[in-house]
Amino acid sequence: MSTVSLVTGANRGIGREVCSSLAARGHTVLLTARDASAAQAAASDIPGAVPLRLDVTDPESIAAAVREVAHRFGKLDVLVNNAAISYDTWQRAISADLGVVREAAETNLYGPWLLVEEFLPLLRASEHPRIVNVSSEAGSLASMGGGTPAYAVTKAALNALTRMLAAELRGERILVNAVCPGWVATDWAARAAARSPRERPAWCGRPCCQTTARPAASSATAALFPGSQSCPCTAH
Ligand code: NAP
Repeated sequence: MSTVSLVTGANRGIGREVCSSLAARGHTVLLTARDASAAQAAASDIPGAVPLRLDVTDPESIAAAVREVAHRFGKLDVLVNNAAISYDTWQRAISADLGVVREAAETNLYGPWLLVEEFLPLLRASEHPRIVNVSSEAGSLASMGGGTPAYAVTKAALNALTRMLAAELRGERILVNAVCPGWVATDWAARAAARSPRERPAWCGRPCCQTTARPAASSATAALFPGSQSCPCTAH
């Protein structure tokens, strides 16, 4: 059976392009979105992509996705936690609306966390299991300043979770990494200097990639972000 990969928040932006890249490499890609018709529409353009509804904030939706993957494939090789919200450029930590922070945490931290817990039995059924958490330099403690508090704090927490998962799963040879794609012109980050999701990223050169289990040259991370490197820095 081919490599089975699941990407969250894949109906647009980086997640959709990751699906396209993995499908081009022969993976069976579960292109998931919180809206079933959005998943269907995005998957229709990508040969080999299988649409699946998955809202990362909804435990029932996660359980249903796990049942579906178990039924159809009996394993999961690659889990890409890509979905995220709340790039809150309008906020500062000293006056942040904590409702926005809590809402961000549901999608950016607790969603990926529950997905890992629930998909672990299917990842254990894979010969080369891998978890990739799509993070951001905004969550790097090494370079953190003020601003975007909901986003930055939840991505920092995702980085911490990544390191803990990597440590706890290393003995089972389940590799866990976080990656930062750099600035990409998606719906939430339309910037003049940014790349489109289709353009291969140039490594930003800063320690935003929290590498907790260094990938081999042929790893799934390299396939997801071919132009990126994994930072060996552990000082985050
Ligand atoms: P995007 O264009 O805003 O897409 C976000 C995706 O997440 C959408 O498909 C959205 O679905 C989905 N999503 C939101 N809440 C969800 C939920 N509860 N369940 C399932 N899916 C949900 O973002 P992007 O720029 O592609 O970013 C993708 C990842 O890269 C994120 O983790 C982000 O933090 C990271 N990143 C991006 C940049 C950048 O410059 N773009 C830089 C650094 C890191 P809907 O269409 O339903 O809203």
